[in-house]
Amino acid sequence: MKCECGREAIERVGGRYYCKECYSKRYLSLVERSIRKYGILKRGEKVLAAISGGKDSVAMIAALKELEDKLGIKLEALHINLGIGEYSRKSEEVSRKVCEELDVPLHVVYLSEYGFTIGDVKRKACSVCGNAKRYIMNRFAREEGFDVIATGHCAEDIVANVLKNLYSGNFEWSEKLLPRIEGYFKFVSKAKPLYEIGEKENLLFVLSKGITFLPDECPKAPDPKWKELVYEIEKKIPGFKKGVLRSLVRREKVESELKSCKICGEPTSAEICQFCRNVKKFGKVRKIPL
Ligand code: SF4
Ligand code: ZN
Repeated sequence: MKCECGREAIERVGGRYYCKECYSKRYLSLVERSIRKYGILKRGEKVLAAISGGKDSVAMIAALKELEDKLGIKLEALHINLGIGEYSRKSEEVSRKVCEELDVPLHVVYLSEYGFTIGDVKRKACSVCGNAKRYIMNRFAREEGFDVIATGHCAEDIVANVLKNLYSGNFEWSEKLLPRIEGYFKFVSKAKPLYEIGEKENLLFVLSKGITFLPDECPKAPDPKWKELVYEIEKKIPGFKKGVLRSLVRREKVESELKSCKICGEPTSAEICQFCRNVKKFGKVRKIPL
């Protein structure tokens, strides 16, 4: 099959065949559009991109490097060696190679410097690991003067976490999954440039660019059942992922823009609340007794 440009196609996406070059262009324009739409990164920012060596973080760094001038950002990378045996050794090696290939300055921090490794943690390793990564990323970024930390969370990661939070009764945790969280107190701003981008799109991008990445899964990775569930639902309800991602942003906007109704004083996202508008429209008494 041929791409519209006449070159050999590598993949069919959304009913069209793409060659490597045209696919990369499409991917970059999707990432750029999403960054602009949600204000994920701002002009002039010094960005610290976290790299594990996996396809998602590699795709993010490669895309940000290509968009660096256009977006007006300054990009550097951070790899945290978590001390998970052979997996961490390979992760660091790949991260170093990728940053060298892309000419992105890389910083490496070893969790062992703090006196423990994730390899030593027997139970709930991901929760200890997630906390360690957030701690080190934030402290490093703040102390080194970065404006924002970018992570390679993809659309499926985010939607799977929204479902998990809903299930466990911690839906409010989902605000951590928003495409951008502004910094406060000693927290540096956080950004997810791949908020709307699927993991298969990331994989295809790194493959079409011929960039090194680590295909191995972390040996401590949990059962991927939540992500599988996202794929199952998407099959039955096409557009489900996008719907969840957009409603997460919309919900946050509505909450942050709450004000008091000009007529009755009750909370509303508009000048006049829906109830007062209904009273005006349907009520026989035009004035609200207060
Ligand atoms: Fe850490 Fe768990 Fe991810 Fe492995 S799968 S890197 S232990 S959070
Ligand atoms: Zn083409």
